[in-house]
Amino acid sequence: GAMRAELLTIGSELTSGATVNTNAAELACCLARAGIVCQRQVAVGDERAAIERALQEALTRCNLLITTGGLGPTFDDLTMEAIAAVIGRPLVCIPTAAARIRRFYRQAHRKLQQAALRQAFLPQGGQALANPIGTAPGLWLALPAPIIVALPGVPSEMRAILERHVLPRLARLPRREAIETRLVRTIGIVELEIQRLLRRIPTPQAVQVGLYPHLRAVDIRLTVQIPSRRRARDILNRLEAQLRRQLGAVVYGTD
Ligand code: ATP
Ligand code: MG
Repeated sequence: GAMRAELLTIGSELTSGATVNTNAAELACCLARAGIVCQRQVAVGDERAAIERALQEALTRCNLLITTGGLGPTFDDLTMEAIAAVIGRPLVCIPTAAARIRRFYRQAHRKLQQAALRQAFLPQGGQALANPIGTAPGLWLALPAPIIVALPGVPSEMRAILERHVLPRLARLPRREAIETRLVRTIGIVELEIQRLLRRIPTPQAVQVGLYPHLRAVDIRLTVQIPSRRRARDILNRLEAQLRRQLGAVVYGTD
């Protein structure tokens, strides 16, 4: 089977609605581009029991789990402890990560607080993913399966570690598939009429069709997920041609 990924975004500011969960959307898009479908997204508050329960459940379903948030040095940053507890491993100090934190404080002319070094502790067997713009390293932990990745909550830090360390590792994983999408854009036709015309077009099993209505316009999103990117594009080209034949002039463009 293909890779099954899930996202666990951690932070009470997310569950309360005070912060919009941009990390989840960004991660899901990056995963799709890497050929990995995100099958579920969960958000939980900064609460140890809730985080552990969410981790436990996700690990029974997926083979790639990515978390964001809760890597900071304060009492409400519990992600590494929760991961260590759930997989039954101790937290161990990563010397290179501790050295980076010390250097960061020295260069900022700030006195090192002992609590800052909490961020250098990762579940045993994990690799620290260096954070180029902050102090909290990310985590890559291959059990070997599932793979657990923990990233900071601050979007710029999340993005930096993702691009530098996570995407290159994901690109080396087997069992990825091509995920190709095409948006066929229409105006002047209602959803139900599109649905009626769609029934006349045979769609292969690997194709998902979604209708996304906007004000007076409806986008038809076609998604194909198969191992071969070239074949995925062929399927989309054929479907687009059939759609254009059925729908006629209401199609004003693609993507
Ligand atoms: P730090 O080391 O900076 O403490 P952290 O991993 O502990 O990082 P959090 O404390 O969870 O991160 O979040 C830091 C900030 O990042 C929050 O103020 C929040 O606004 C933002 N943030 C956290 N999670 C998300 C998210 N999923 N989407 C968008 N922004 C987020
Ligand atoms: Mg936090």
